[in-house]
Amino acid sequence: CGIVGYIGKRDTAPLLLEGLQRLEYRGYDSAGIAVQSRTGGLRTAKAKGRVRELESRLPKRFAGTAGIAHTRWATHGVPSDANAHPHVDPTGKVAVVHNGIIDNAAALRAALEAEGVALASETDTEVLAHLIADAHQDQHTLEGAVQKALSRVEGTYGIAVLHADFPDRIVVARNGSPVVLGIGEREMFVASDVAALVSHTRQVVTLDDGEMATIKADDYRTYTTEGSRTSTTPETVEWAA
Ligand code: GLU
Repeated sequence: CGIVGYIGKRDTAPLLLEGLQRLEYRGYDSAGIAVQSRTGGLRTAKAKGRVRELESRLPKRFAGTAGIAHTRWATHGVPSDANAHPHVDPTGKVAVVHNGIIDNAAALRAALEAEGVALASETDTEVLAHLIADAHQDQHTLEGAVQKALSRVEGTYGIAVLHADFPDRIVVARNGSPVVLGIGEREMFVASDVAALVSHTRQVVTLDDGEMATIKADDYRTYTTEGSRTSTTPETVEWAA
């Protein structure tokens, strides 16, 4: 339903929670957040219910310089803590938030289970975390791993991905579900809706279907899910305060 991401110098969790609150008007049943911790590795927190619920559950030490967050409107699996996003792979290195519906999720879940993977949720989304982690075994870059994973997926998605081994970036992709980059001063935002960005920046890049982006604190680039570069110029959004 709603996606927010941030990478930069400021403490991530408060910014992401504020972004989620700006998306509350869209409706949701659960919320969650993952950050790259300053000491290495990802930290995740999720909760059924309101963003306030999630906030009250955040561990004391939840500082990070990059993070992704989500409000979920359940399509596959009941509203619950376990089904809330972000979804992570069993090693805890990959975290994914997703808007949309993966049509071949049942087949992908069955294939993963046949390989002996224990799935932690009932969602269509969780397969993405496993597929990206698997793909990273023969793809050196996070971008390559996400592309390989997406090539196995049918359906609609707006996604944002964190990987513990690539703390300097967030990789996002769009197919049928909006993804907007917010370009700041040595900080970068991503969201499914400009409403979550406009209090921080008016410079935005809207991805097309089949397009991906890598955002770093001081830089971004866009390319297709097949890997060819695309050119984009930020637009200035008008927004009545
Ligand atoms: N299909 C996903 C789920 O049920 C994402 C739903 C959404 O867009 O929030 O978890």
